Amino acid sequence: MTDAVVPTPPGASPPVANNFIRQIVVNDRAAGKHGGRVATRFPPEPNGYLHLGHAKSICLNFGIAREFSGTCALRFDDTNPAREDVEYVEAIKSDVRWLGFEWNELRHTSDYFEALYLCAEKLVHDGKAFVCDLSADAVRAYRGTLTEPGRNSPYRDRSVEENLDLFRRMRAGEFADGARTLRAKIDMASGNINMRDPAIYRIRKLSHQNTGDTWCIYPMYDYAHCVSDAVEGITHSLCTLEFEDHRPLYDWCLDQLDLPGDAALTEPLRRAGLRCTPSRPQQIEFSRGNLDYTVMSKRKLMALVSDHLVDGWDDPRMPTLAGVRRRGFPPAAIRAFWERVGVTKQNSVIACSVLEASVREDLDARAPRRMAVLDPIKLVITNLDAAHDETLAFANHPKNAELGTRNVPFSRGVWIERDDFAEVPPKGFHRLLPGGEVRLRGVGIVRCNNTIKNDDGSIRELHGTLDPETRHGMPGADRKVKGTIHWVSAKHAIAAEVRLYDRLFSVPNPDDDSDGKTYADHLNPHSKRVVTAWLEPALADTRAEENVQFERLGYFVADRHDHTRGKPVFNRSVTLRDSWAKG
Ligand code: ATP
Ligand code: MG
Repeated sequence: MTDAVVPTPPGASPPVANNFIRQIVVNDRAAGKHGGRVATRFPPEPNGYLHLGHAKSICLNFGIAREFSGTCALRFDDTNPAREDVEYVEAIKSDVRWLGFEWNELRHTSDYFEALYLCAEKLVHDGKAFVCDLSADAVRAYRGTLTEPGRNSPYRDRSVEENLDLFRRMRAGEFADGARTLRAKIDMASGNINMRDPAIYRIRKLSHQNTGDTWCIYPMYDYAHCVSDAVEGITHSLCTLEFEDHRPLYDWCLDQLDLPGDAALTEPLRRAGLRCTPSRPQQIEFSRGNLDYTVMSKRKLMALVSDHLVDGWDDPRMPTLAGVRRRGFPPAAIRAFWERVGVTKQNSVIACSVLEASVREDLDARAPRRMAVLDPIKLVITNLDAAHDETLAFANHPKNAELGTRNVPFSRGVWIERDDFAEVPPKGFHRLLPGGEVRLRGVGIVRCNNTIKNDDGSIRELHGTLDPETRHGMPGADRKVKGTIHWVSAKHAIAAEVRLYDRLFSVPNPDDDSDGKTYADHLNPHSKRVVTAWLEPALADTRAEENVQFERLGYFVADRHDHTRGKPVFNRSVTLRDSWAKG
């Protein structure tokens, strides 16, 4: 990997909004801190797929690096072999790239296992860490509470020699899982429970997705994170608010170790071929991104997948990046959304209608317009010949002539939407009704003369006439009728599977379990509906993942996996308007 500047993502990037983190970076650079260098990282744990909340952190970390000509690393925080898998590693890489970012370096916390171990030996050596034989339950009992100080472990005063010997034997695999831990020696009376002699190593006799069976002791997150940041030369370590209380421990570890000054600690990394210019990073916390009508924790998303409540991690209803990608949300819309939301220390839940609005805005500007009929009923235009076959030129976009035109065939029989006709029209209905008139988009005005029924009374087809005076270029072309409806020539239509997605949950806060229900009880039973639709033939040329607008219906995307020319499959990304809005 090179140290090149993080490239600008494709497509228009929104203007950079100011926020408190950006301001810290501006000030640090002005003060010459870190020699003016800016290095960030995005550190996911490879224990699931990335979600929209992670996108906030990705946009922030990569965005700051790009803005200040710095670097951003992708670091897999892989210290818990029990939950991690290469499937997730690959998915995370693909999702970060899809969002429009490229890392300067790809690292794993496990790349630093040897350095982390040496740093821990140094702590032991300096009397700052000890091997503790208390069981997990006993540790908890000794820890105290928010109002009561903890008690020192009876093993706290072991000699340096004994600690070193035991720690080395932990590494050598002499003890069972859970039998011993290495703990930092800080202060059992600290008001911050994280500072009460936290464990920094534990025994886990498990194979690791990156290091195999080399290790049977694994560093704890708080210890591994700050040391990894420092050896990687990170300047600004951006994380979410729940780590605010961990910051004293982050700083404590770095104070004890002095990585930038201590070559003995960083030499093994260089020997292993890793670039290593250690820094003294600063941890800065910001609030998590939360959306309503969804859940955003990997654990809960994992449960939705394993309980088969959705069709996998990339189900288009999932808030995972793989899911919204398949749903047809453009990466630029997601970046613009988080930019708009901003970065603060205030926890809040953002309406997913705000994200949907970003999606509409992006797609409105560039998605080609097409006609599709999702719930078809046939309209026969009886004053046209059975052989009538006409080709009309339609603009692909009403506001952008550069998108060109396409041919739309027109014939005697057209499909229209069932609900664009009403035998008994409700008040204010401006579309087709018996004896009424409507404009067929781009064709002219038709009048409905007859309703042909099946034996059971349902409507088989409609018969109408087209007023030739109202066709394009004719004297009556401007004649006003209230409604315009879309259509697809029946003779030329292609059939497609169209998946109509809606929100996965039917309540704004599915996580709220105060009424004894869990998020699984709040699934929206109408979140997926599959129909067979009729499409205008130009849609046969749509490539997988291409976005289009079906006029009057919404934005759709050709399904990433299932769509083919011979068997088109489209997913609804969003409706044209916010159908969930009140009123
Ligand atoms: P989850 O609870 O969903 O598993 P996590 O924080 O455990 O989330 P990590 O893989 O550890 O997931 O997260 C990688 C990075 O993304 C971390 O820096 C984390 O703070 C950040 N992150 C995770 N969720 C959000 C969110 N909702 N908003 C902003 N940043 C987030
Ligand atoms: Mg985590």
